Parts: sequence; C-alpha cells; structure tokens
Amino acid sequence: MQQKKTMEQERIAGGPCLNCRREHSFSEGDARSHCRELMQFLEQEKRLDLLARREEADPQLDTASLFGEARGKMFGIMVCRAADGSERVLRAFSGQYNGIWEIEGWAPPLFNLAVYTRIYAEFEPRIKQLGRELQLTKHGSIQWRDLSNRRRQLSQQWMREIHALYTLSNFRGQQRLLSDAFAGSGGIPTGTGDCCAPKLFNQAIRENLLPLGLAEFYLGRENASRTRQHGQFYPSCASKCTPILSFMLCGLDELRVAG
Ligand SMILES: [Zn+2]
Ligand SMILES: [Zn+2]
Repeated sequence: MQQKKTMEQERIAGGPCLNCRREHSFSEGDARSHCRELMQFLEQEKRLDLLARREEADPQLDTASLFGEARGKMFGIMVCRAADGSERVLRAFSGQYNGIWEIEGWAPPLFNLAVYTRIYAEFEPRIKQLGRELQLTKHGSIQWRDLSNRRRQLSQQWMREIHALYTLSNFRGQQRLLSDAFAGSGGIPTGTGDCCAPKLFNQAIRENLLPLGLAEFYLGRENASRTRQHGQFYPSCASKCTPILSFMLCGLDELRVAG
C-alpha cells in the first residue's frame, strides 16, 4: 500500500504514447518547494501580477475572485534546466483568469490569442442570442426544437474551430493538432490543453528547456464537486491532460538521459 502511494506521487503525468507506443511519465522533482514559495506570494500579495510593483497591481488580477463565486484554480510550477546549465522556474495558472489568458511571468496558452479572440467574438453573441430566443419560445414546439438544434450545431462548430487552434509540440520536435494528438476515448473535453501541465510543457519545449520536475496545487474556495481543496497538491487530470501529455512528453526520456 505504501509502495503504491509513492508510485502515484512519482507518476504525475503521462500515459501510453500513440507516437512510439511506450509509456511516458514525469515526476515532481523538487517542484513542490517552489510551489510553496508561490503559494506564499499569492497569499501575502493577493495578486497574480508578480512582476508588477505593488502600487501598479492590476485589480483584475487580484486573488479575491478565487475565494468567491468563480471558486479556486489550479496553479503549477515546472523546474527546468536551461542550455547553459542554469535553473529556470516556470509558472502556470489553469485556463484563464477573470477572462485574461496572458499574464507576464506565467506560461502562455497553447493558441494564438488574437485568433482565439476573433472566433470568440464571432460565436459567443450568436449563441447567447439563440439562448434568449429559446427562453421566449414554447418548450418542445417545432420552433423551439429548431432553435435548439441551431444552437447545438453552432456550439459544436465553435468548439471545432477553437480546438483547431491548439497545436501540441513534443520533445522530438514534432507538432500535431490537438484533435490528432488526443489519445482519450470519446470527444475532446472542453478546456483540454488549458491546464497547467500542458502550458508548462509547451513553454519548456518552445524555450528549449529541459523539464526536471512539475507539481500542481489548488488555491481558493473548493470546487463545486469538492474534489479540490485549498492549498492541496494534485496530479495532472486524467480526463484532459493524460490523453495529450502522452504525446507532449514523447522524446523527453532520451533528452534527460543525454543531459
Ligand atoms: Zn488537466
Ligand atoms: Zn512516445
């Protein structure tokens, strides 16, 4: 039993790889100590703009929202080694923060933000409008079913266009669209690629860094399903991360042996 627990702490990410058919995994290294430093900063400073001076802090990046209606969020740290041998510590928050995707000092999203924003502006108002029309229509009527179908088709098209923006990279220099790299069964869950682990691996690959350890923790009011508690560490998620990290981690073992 004790043995099993240790194994699970070690294997925080990965899964069978469609690329080379091997199983890729990744461990925490000493990332937890850096997580605790970050936790301390966020709890003391109560803001995400860690590179800004306190008097210039952006009110939208205040941590208060983590304890309110929006609930808490996962944060992650990846410790890396740069080509010159120095240590680099990367940070990530999951998804977006109060609608903001890019914050200086944090890993960027896996997509081009300008294109994402354009697609959002195109679909979001149309879907909202259909939702309003649905509410004014008699439930179950022909017109209601027609509106409901149109809204579903539009949402599906929106998701397809968003997913097409995500390009995943790995440590062999390969790139794949999210839809081609996703190794899970069934459809691609909303938010796949937005968790801390894929953002951190993506940044490491882009900046030619060798990842040594990764840890993720939750900060704020517990989530609705009560599976995430304030200040606790969690492995990367099985539904969204495992099916893509298998591709993203490919080639890392060889680099770590060589490095
Ligand atoms: Zn995840
Ligand atoms: Zn592989």
